[in-house]
Amino acid sequence: MIFQYPQHSHTRRHGPRGYVNYKSYKPWLRDEFDFRCVYCLWRERWYAAGEAAFSVEHLQSQAVAPQLVCEYENLVYACCRCNSIKTDAAAVLDPCRDAFGHHLVVLTDGRIHGLTPEGHELIRICKLDQPLLIESRRRLIELLQTLQESDSPRAARLREQYLRFPRNLPVLARCSPPGGNAQPEGIATSYYERARRAELPAVY
Ligand SMILES: [Zn+2]
Repeated sequence: MIFQYPQHSHTRRHGPRGYVNYKSYKPWLRDEFDFRCVYCLWRERWYAAGEAAFSVEHLQSQAVAPQLVCEYENLVYACCRCNSIKTDAAAVLDPCRDAFGHHLVVLTDGRIHGLTPEGHELIRICKLDQPLLIESRRRLIELLQTLQESDSPRAARLREQYLRFPRNLPVLARCSPPGGNAQPEGIATSYYERARRAELPAVY
């Protein structure tokens, strides 16, 4: 199921420090959060604009916690839709502290349910139950299910187009955070390096 929220809290693999513009953290966050929005699970591949449809999202908003604007641990990856809807709302859930799968579940008909008060709150804040979003989820779930059930090689190729990693994987080894990298060992686990070692699965 493509809209499955993680059953474990996320452990950060990267630790860049010192950028004065928070947008400079974007390549790290793309890799950190698997090229998809932590809130709605929409992937870069599903937007014509790719990564341009995504933002650096502040868990504690810039207005609430200006001292955390450029702190990597306060940043996650979100699509521009969720980022703009959430605005200055306080983050109720942090994917690095809370397993979103314990709080939210998407049904095969595209609807989303809150399993806890925090889950309900996140649905409300990010409007994850907007009819158009539910409809889009349902359409995508049905399309990918139909492609999976088909014996046609074209269907298999098309499905892979939806579920593969983006072509422009960030080369984190070439990034030089001004304040250094607290987790340099994370570079080897980045998707670009894994692709170089031919370890990347065809779909995810
Ligand atoms: Zn989103």
